[in-house]
Amino acid sequence: MAFDSLSEKLQNVFKKLKSKGVLTEDDVKEAMKEVKRALLEADVNFKVVKNFIKTVTEKAVGEEVMKGLNPGQMVIKIVRDEMTSLMGSEVSEIKLLPSNEVTIIMMCGLQGAGKTTTVAKLAGQYKNKGRKPLLVACDVYRPAAIKQLEINGEKVGVPVFSMGTANKPRDIVKAALSHAQKNDINLMFIDTAGRLHIDEGMMQELQEIKETVPVNYTILTVDSMTGQDSVNVATTFNDQIGIDGVILTKLDGDTRGGAALSIKAVTGKPILYAGMGEKLTDLELFYPERMASRILGMGDVESLIEKAQEAIDEEQARKVEEKIRKATFDFNDFLDQLDQMNKMGGLSSLIGMLPGMGKLKNVEIDENAMNKPKAIIYSMTMEERTNPDILNVSRKNRIAKGAGVDIAEVNRFIKQFEESRKMMKQMSGIMGKKKKRGMLP
Ligand code: GDP
Repeated sequence: MAFDSLSEKLQNVFKKLKSKGVLTEDDVKEAMKEVKRALLEADVNFKVVKNFIKTVTEKAVGEEVMKGLNPGQMVIKIVRDEMTSLMGSEVSEIKLLPSNEVTIIMMCGLQGAGKTTTVAKLAGQYKNKGRKPLLVACDVYRPAAIKQLEINGEKVGVPVFSMGTANKPRDIVKAALSHAQKNDINLMFIDTAGRLHIDEGMMQELQEIKETVPVNYTILTVDSMTGQDSVNVATTFNDQIGIDGVILTKLDGDTRGGAALSIKAVTGKPILYAGMGEKLTDLELFYPERMASRILGMGDVESLIEKAQEAIDEEQARKVEEKIRKATFDFNDFLDQLDQMNKMGGLSSLIGMLPGMGKLKNVEIDENAMNKPKAIIYSMTMEERTNPDILNVSRKNRIAKGAGVDIAEVNRFIKQFEESRKMMKQMSGIMGKKKKRGMLP
């Protein structure tokens, strides 16, 4: 999970700080030494760490903090604020031209950084917001890359403009722009060719594209798991062709966080988005404050709520609430709930966003744990699903066979289901009363 190892180390440092009622300057300095070590181990750029520690220490040993009511907490707040500012303070959004013009976004990056995946994710998001995007295939060296872009484009419902591998990228983008203008397209994403390492030819090609069409945004995708290397790559791209922002990919697998914490500070360019998985929906706007909270194990409740809002159909949520209240929540509803959870990215992605849940990181989350209950429900008839009370022994035997499990397993699942149904009913009773008394919104 993102930032796990850094997060754990920092939380240990803070636990010690919080346990002290009074803080001395030495306590703060000692804690900062440990923070420094944790950041360096997370592969944060050395200069960035040095400045960070200096600023935090200066603020933390101030009179106000040391004599305050809760000095440990204050120090943690200072760390969080500085970390937020390190990552850019505010969210940076791409500013598009008015919708009657074509905004051109050029995506660049090394091979394997996640360019082709990310460009499709982004195009899909803009399509959902009502834009008319086009993906342009300019990786003329790898036919497989063009194919991959076509597959991804189809998945997100965005057309792909390709001229195969026989033309030069600058000719392709020229033709693509004229195609866009003729076809009412107002957002063009150029998927350029990457290389395994920085190389002259690649930079030259990107420069030529920029000279041929009016590129509005040059975005670099970097693999966050490569830590300092990705920061060096960003610096080189920025020096040689000029970039407007960075998309950090594979943050879902990056336990250290060095790239996220260094890129803005080193290159001066903002992180626009974070890739959080291989699925084409796994791309999040990069909110520095929320990231800092996640790193410090304070959870990211806002992102969790947004995710839920995107995935959950409000009408359906209202119906479920009513069913719970009336205790008519049945097995079909249970299946729907599992489905909604999957849309939100599964259990493990949700846990990382819950405050304090970072501690659960060593618990293996078995995303397949729900497969058995699902199989059991699928083996029920519609009548049985809507009316669990009719499940007698012979029906249960049939269901067990159908699901390929033991009858004891079926019994256990049904019992659990009944118990949680009872609990839901009690909870909705309590919530209802609180609501009436004005304790809940
Ligand atoms: P390109 O060579 O830069 O175009 O890279 P690709 O788009 O082909 O991506 C390389 C690999 O990284 C593929 O297996 C992708 O599925 C994977 N990938 C891309 N973005 C992410 C991400 O945010 N998280 C994870 N876990 N994998 C990603």
